[in-house]
Amino acid sequence: MSKRLIIANWKMNPVSLREAEYLFKEFKKVTIKSKNIHTILCVPFPYLYPLKKLKTILRFLLGAQNVFKDVDGAYTGEVSPLMIADSGANFCIVGHSERRAMGETDVDINQKIKLLLKNKISPILCVGERERDGKHTYFDFVKRQIVEDLKNVQKNLLKNIVIAYEPVWAIGKDATREATPVEVNEMTIFIRKCISDISSSSIAHDIKVIYGGSVTKNNVSDFIEYGGVDGFLVGRASLSVRDFIKIIQIVDKK
Ligand code: PEP
Repeated sequence: MSKRLIIANWKMNPVSLREAEYLFKEFKKVTIKSKNIHTILCVPFPYLYPLKKLKTILRFLLGAQNVFKDVDGAYTGEVSPLMIADSGANFCIVGHSERRAMGETDVDINQKIKLLLKNKISPILCVGERERDGKHTYFDFVKRQIVEDLKNVQKNLLKNIVIAYEPVWAIGKDATREATPVEVNEMTIFIRKCISDISSSSIAHDIKVIYGGSVTKNNVSDFIEYGGVDGFLVGRASLSVRDFIKIIQIVDKK
């Protein structure tokens, strides 16, 4: 079995480098003792370089949470894929629902993915419906995101992308409810089918599909057991030393 991914999305937290370094050190300690997982911390831009200096290792890496869709130029306030690579990011979240809500389009996401791959950074592509309706249109919604976000991406590079299924209704403090492992499993299978349709069944088999949305130490076991996922994207719980360590330990043992 290939190793599962546990990816932290710290969002705009913690508010000091001191706290970020503390979290990094605690999570590194427990990851070093693990056998079956890789941990990736997706941190705010200013923390990438100082955390890289604390030494990442193959199974404990860093990621960014966003990137610009060009590599250099007159883009005040933006951050280039070359900059995040230089600062220590091996991964980068793209298409998070919070950024889509701020106006990021599928065309932007597609450009970002291509640039990241060109610069040897693995995109963590977030897809997921805003709400569930009775007519199963959420499957079409997710399919459209995958098709548009991965349009003309070289097939041999698709295996370097992580797809995170993040139903918007299950994310963050405003979540309406938790997703069930069965719902996650259905969508995981569907996402692999979408990937197979645009590439091949072997790529669909190899690509990592993970789940994010109110993952905690209490529900993570069931998501592994019945959700059919290759790992997790964890928001709130990744800021708690005790909870995130527990999640790492549970997933490592499964
Ligand atoms: C997220 O927003 O990516 C996320 C998974 O958040 P949470 O775990 O807090 O629901």
